[in-house]
Amino acid sequence: MLKEINWKYVKENRYDLAILPWGATEAHNYQLPFGTDVIECDYIAEESAGIAWNNGVKVIVLPTIPFGVNTQQLDIPLTINMNPSTQAFVLRDVVDSLNGQGIKKLIVLNGHGGNDFKQMIREISSDYTDFFLGQVNWYVVEKNWSDFFEDVGDHAGEMETSIMLNIIPDWVLPKDQWGDGASKKLKFKAREEGWLWAPREWTKVSNDTGIGNPEKATVEKGEKFLYSILLKLANLYKEITETRIDDIYE
Ligand SMILES: [Zn+2]
Repeated sequence: MLKEINWKYVKENRYDLAILPWGATEAHNYQLPFGTDVIECDYIAEESAGIAWNNGVKVIVLPTIPFGVNTQQLDIPLTINMNPSTQAFVLRDVVDSLNGQGIKKLIVLNGHGGNDFKQMIREISSDYTDFFLGQVNWYVVEKNWSDFFEDVGDHAGEMETSIMLNIIPDWVLPKDQWGDGASKKLKFKAREEGWLWAPREWTKVSNDTGIGNPEKATVEKGEKFLYSILLKLANLYKEITETRIDDIYE
């Protein structure tokens, strides 16, 4: 964790891969803190990199960027939006800094559904051709949420509440204060069939800002889900660091 180490330590070690966790600052139903996406990113990055480091992988976790794309939630007080265009500048500066120092591999570990770095990565990568830049949305590392959770919501629901009960239970409100995360969807049939996407105006689709019912969230469910994600991520870091940038295809 870069925020914890000093120049003496940095000087004496080598770093083959950097992780840039990227969160958001937004409401998460009544029960979870505004920093939920940052807390999740911090935890998942630290723990997964820790497993990898203990297996000899030279990975460094950069400080989590706390602001995400929240353009559809600005009517909720203290939601802080960072536009995609700003994010692109931030990402480019991070890549440029690392590239100049010879650290040529970077994974953006994204923890917020409104963030999407793919197009930025396409653009930046064309200017840094010997640099490996990729994105992982940690919440899809385990794609089959229904293997872990009963109500597959997508924001401050059973999954995120279970995870936060693991990471920082004192910051989760008592259960009698949880909202039900009921939400509305776009009317169009194409959305139901999954081929139309449009952003959601948050206060029009959810009363409590949650999407998905957290009611059946438990520490045990969160632990099982997290454990699986951490191991897969640690393995990815190992594979990336063991592979030369000019030899990444098979
Ligand atoms: Zn979240």
